[in-house]
Amino acid sequence: MTFFLLIIIAICFIIYGAYVKTTRDLRDVKRIHEALHSVSGLDNVIKVLSKEISETGIITLAFFRKNRETMQLESEKGFIPILQHGSAVKALFTQKPQRADHRYEADKNLCAAFGENSLAFIPLRLRRDGCCWQINNCQDKQCRCHSSGPGPCWIRSERHFRGEILGTYKEKTSRCLNCAAFLPFGVLAVKDTSTWALSRVHAFIDDNFSAALKNAVNFERALHSATIDHLTGVPNKRSLITSLRSLLKLSTRHNQPLSFCMLDIDFFKRFNDTYGHQTGDFVLRGLAQQLSGAVRESDMVARYGGEEFSIILPGTDKQTAVSVAEKLRKRVEEHVFKNEKQDLKITISMGISSLPEDGIDSVAALIEKADAALYHSKKTRNKVAAYESKMSSTTPKKERKQKAAGNKASVVIGSN
Ligand code: GH3
Ligand code: MG
Ligand code: MG
Repeated sequence: MTFFLLIIIAICFIIYGAYVKTTRDLRDVKRIHEALHSVSGLDNVIKVLSKEISETGIITLAFFRKNRETMQLESEKGFIPILQHGSAVKALFTQKPQRADHRYEADKNLCAAFGENSLAFIPLRLRRDGCCWQINNCQDKQCRCHSSGPGPCWIRSERHFRGEILGTYKEKTSRCLNCAAFLPFGVLAVKDTSTWALSRVHAFIDDNFSAALKNAVNFERALHSATIDHLTGVPNKRSLITSLRSLLKLSTRHNQPLSFCMLDIDFFKRFNDTYGHQTGDFVLRGLAQQLSGAVRESDMVARYGGEEFSIILPGTDKQTAVSVAEKLRKRVEEHVFKNEKQDLKITISMGISSLPEDGIDSVAALIEKADAALYHSKKTRNKVAAYESKMSSTTPKKERKQKAAGNKASVVIGSN
């Protein structure tokens, strides 16, 4: 009798324990979701989640985010090439937590970088309804994924890729990285702990926060496409103007110099006519990279439009800006843009306006005066000019308009 009573009490304890644990977890999930409400951007969401999971004793050391362009997992602490063997990459592709394995060179390096003898990696992914063959409208019926339910096709389908059978699995996975159905987007590097704890945290994030993570990723994608020029990867005109506004205010308030440079490729129409627009695009990308790599981190290179770029040089007076621009002009003149077919060369012309020298008080004036200086450079081309008050504010476009208006006027006069 006593024995039965003890068993019943034990069962009650187990049920009560499970109930308390579930409600606590539920309350935690709700609270974390509330905390995530006021947060946008993936890094901030990761910060909130990392803080929460630290309560379970798992310490996050870094978040490595997948970068499709560079083909790396990147964090402030460094980067890991996505197609190099290592536990972080394995976690990303298998979608299972992995502990660092010192047989991998990448893992040894990471442990050294973090000053930790043992690390583990928790993968993060987005969730999407639908399978790869539906998302990509794929007709490859030989592929093991075809007509099957949702699942990680990048693991299951071996070397099949939309009708092609590729030479190696590595070749296939490199294509997977650009596929809309490839959902892993990063890994958390954490202090190593028990396999059980790793799996639990992984499931906790995956079950409860994949929607929040997806929102954060989508938010960043939208922000990225609204502010970054899709061809060259540098900020677009919209973010240029936003930055100019705040930098101009700051410079005026703190009596700091500021220079602005307008840059235009010489004879680019002729270049396109000679080599084709795709080669033109290739050179635009190359030039954006070259300019971004040559200026300070605090400077900003942006695509103003077409074959025109702008550079903001905060804290830089006119004289220094001219020597920076001259250095860039020379570099571009000497640089060879190499593609598969030929060696390509271009030259650029630049116009500079500066604060306080040019008495500028608005973004519009900053651009207009740099434009006037650029127009002056264009008279000879492959040249740098800084704004001077004697320069006319007439730009080629305005001049053409004025000419057209003049012609019209004379026609009217003549017909009378
Ligand atoms: P200038 O030395 O006076 O600046 O001559 P230009 O030929 O560079 O100037 P123009 O304004 O006559 O032509 C600009 C050319 O830039 C026209 C267009 O074909 C090219 N362009 C603008 N945007 C792009 C682009 O996104 N890709 C490519 N390939 N070409 C572009
Ligand atoms: Mg132009
Ligand atoms: Mg041009």
